[in-house]
Amino acid sequence: MLDIGTQAHPAPHQDALYILLHRNQVLVEKDQRYLIPFTHFQPDANMSAIYCGQWQNQDVFVCRFDSLPKGFEAVDLRELLFQQDQDHYLILSRAHQLSTWDRDHQFCGRCGTGMPEKFATEHTKICPKCHLRHYPRISPCVIISIRKGDHILLARGPHAPKGKYSNIAGFVEAGETLEHAVAREIREEVGIEVTNIRYTESQPWSFPHQLMVGFFADYESGDITPAPGEIEEANWYHIDDLPNIPNPVTISGQLILKHIEHMKNNK
Ligand SMILES: [Zn+2]
Repeated sequence: MLDIGTQAHPAPHQDALYILLHRNQVLVEKDQRYLIPFTHFQPDANMSAIYCGQWQNQDVFVCRFDSLPKGFEAVDLRELLFQQDQDHYLILSRAHQLSTWDRDHQFCGRCGTGMPEKFATEHTKICPKCHLRHYPRISPCVIISIRKGDHILLARGPHAPKGKYSNIAGFVEAGETLEHAVAREIREEVGIEVTNIRYTESQPWSFPHQLMVGFFADYESGDITPAPGEIEEANWYHIDDLPNIPNPVTISGQLILKHIEHMKNNK
């Protein structure tokens, strides 16, 4: 697992490994290797390297290139994430989120002063003029698998491919608890009430900075009424007869599989 650590962040150096990004793509060597030794690439003059942590006792940095350097294949970040185990998934997610934070916080949002450098010991940019601190943005989202007897609710948004179904999900509003967000999103998107809301697991989703927080909930009342423009269709599906569901690398896929296992063990 990537060790995020509490020590001072080192400056980029020759013995570290580097994750090289170009737009939403990751540069890889053969065998889709994305942790690149310093000697394998030519640093770009404008490139800033952000420290991510330690992986197997080696420092890891992420760098963003403006143009594609020679000698690498560029792979879409989502595609690469889907091929990873949990540890590698988390390294790539963190690298992409930190790099996005650096790129999107070049100026102070309060007074407009330039902030090219991050603070030495943590991922914070402190405005040199007004001293406002800017941390990497993390946006909590709830994602919920809902049970009714031997059925679970699956829905399809307007942008999802035809025949592909998933859980209800949405951003947490300012000032709201996670549990309130669960009940509100379900009410808004499919018009039903739920009970017995309980946390199960979480997963970062770095497009660009969500933290997906997974819940199970039980159906309480109401008829499914899809919200126009948000949900194309939503139905109860028997757990032995499910449609096409998300990849189990994603929390959405994991949540469905875990819920079914839980339901089968707790009849
Ligand atoms: Zn400022």
